Amino acid sequence: MNQQLLKAFQKVLDTPKKIIIIPHKNPDGDALGSSLSLHAFLNKTGHQSHIISPNEYPEFLDWMPGQNEILKFSQFTDQSTQWIENADIIFTLDFNQLSRIDKMAPIVEQSDAQKIMIDHHEHPGDYASITYSDATIGSTCEMVFELISALDHDKIDSAIATCLYTGIMTDSGSFRFPSTTARTHQIVSTLIEKGAIPHFIHQKIYDTYSFNRLQLLGTALKNLTKIQEIPVVYITLSQKELNQNNFKKGDTEGFVNYGLSLLGISLAVIMIENEAEKIIKMSFRSKGSFDVNQFAKKYFNGGGHINAAGGVSHSPLAETVSQFRNAIAQEKSHFDV
Ligand code: 5GP
Ligand code: MN
Repeated sequence: MNQQLLKAFQKVLDTPKKIIIIPHKNPDGDALGSSLSLHAFLNKTGHQSHIISPNEYPEFLDWMPGQNEILKFSQFTDQSTQWIENADIIFTLDFNQLSRIDKMAPIVEQSDAQKIMIDHHEHPGDYASITYSDATIGSTCEMVFELISALDHDKIDSAIATCLYTGIMTDSGSFRFPSTTARTHQIVSTLIEKGAIPHFIHQKIYDTYSFNRLQLLGTALKNLTKIQEIPVVYITLSQKELNQNNFKKGDTEGFVNYGLSLLGISLAVIMIENEAEKIIKMSFRSKGSFDVNQFAKKYFNGGGHINAAGGVSHSPLAETVSQFRNAIAQEKSHFDV
C-alpha cells in the first residue's frame, strides 16, 4: 500500500475510536476473514471494534476465531442500527457499493461516521473518505494484511493469521486462480510463521460436507449441461432439488468450479432457484480472457471480477436458462472456438 494511504489510516487510528466493521451480504471466507482479522487487530491496538454482518453465513465458516461475537443485522436490527449510528468509523470490507449490504445501506449512508473501504473489486463507489481499493489483489485479506502489517506487524497473532489465511485460501481457490502471486505466497508464509495451520484450515473449510450436501453435489453434476460448439457449461438447481437434499446455506458453495475442471471449458455457470426471494442466484467462473464481470453486469444485474462474478435473475429457472443461452449466443465471438 502506498505511503499516503498508510498515513491516512495512521491519522484516523491515532486516538481510540468506536469502530464498526461490515462485510458484504452472504459473507464468504474473504469477507469474514478480513473483518475478523481487522477487528481483532483494532481491539488489540486500543480501539473498540464490533463486526455487524448483514445476514447469516455458512456453517463451514462458523469456527473462525472471533466469529461468535459477530452481530447479525438480519436478527438484531435495532441493536445493529444503534451501533452504526454511534460509530466514529465504519469499515466496509470486501465490497465497494453499498447495495451489497442490502437493507443496511441507508443506515450506513445516513450515519455521521467516517467510512473506510478496503476492497479488491473493480469500479469502487465513492461513499468512503478513505478508499483502499485494488482490483489487482486476489483478496481483501491480503489488503488487510498489508495494512495491519504496516501499522504494527507484531500484533499479528495466530487468530489473526488464521482468519487472513482462510480468506486468502478461499478467494484464490486454494492458491490456483490467476490472482495468486509471489506476494500472496510471501504473505501466506508469514501467516504460517504467525500460527496459521494450513491443513487445519483446509479441513475446516473443505472437508466438512454433510451427507446431504455431497448428494446435492451429485444432483448438480447430473444437471451439468454443455452448450454445443461453445466452451460453456452450466448447472441448474431447482428449489425442489434443494429441498430434496435438505439444503442449508452454503451447501452449493464451490459447485460452479466443477464445470471449469472440464478440459477445454472457458466458462462455467450455476443457476440456483431461491423460491423465498423469488430470484435465481447465478455464479460465473471463467478461465482465460472471458470477462465474467462484464457479462454478469450486462445481462444479470451483477458483477465481481474478470474470472469470478455473480448475478441475479428475476425470471423463473427455465426462462433464466434460455436468457443465459441467448446471452452466450450474443457473446459467442468472445470465445476461442
Ligand atoms: P459468488 O459467485 O461466489 O457469489 O461471487 C463471485 C464474485 O462476484 C465475488 O467477488 C462476489 O463479491 C461477486 N458477486 C457475487 N454476486 C454479486 C452480485 O449480485 N453483484 C455484484 N456486483 N457482485 C457479485
Ligand atoms: Mn473477496
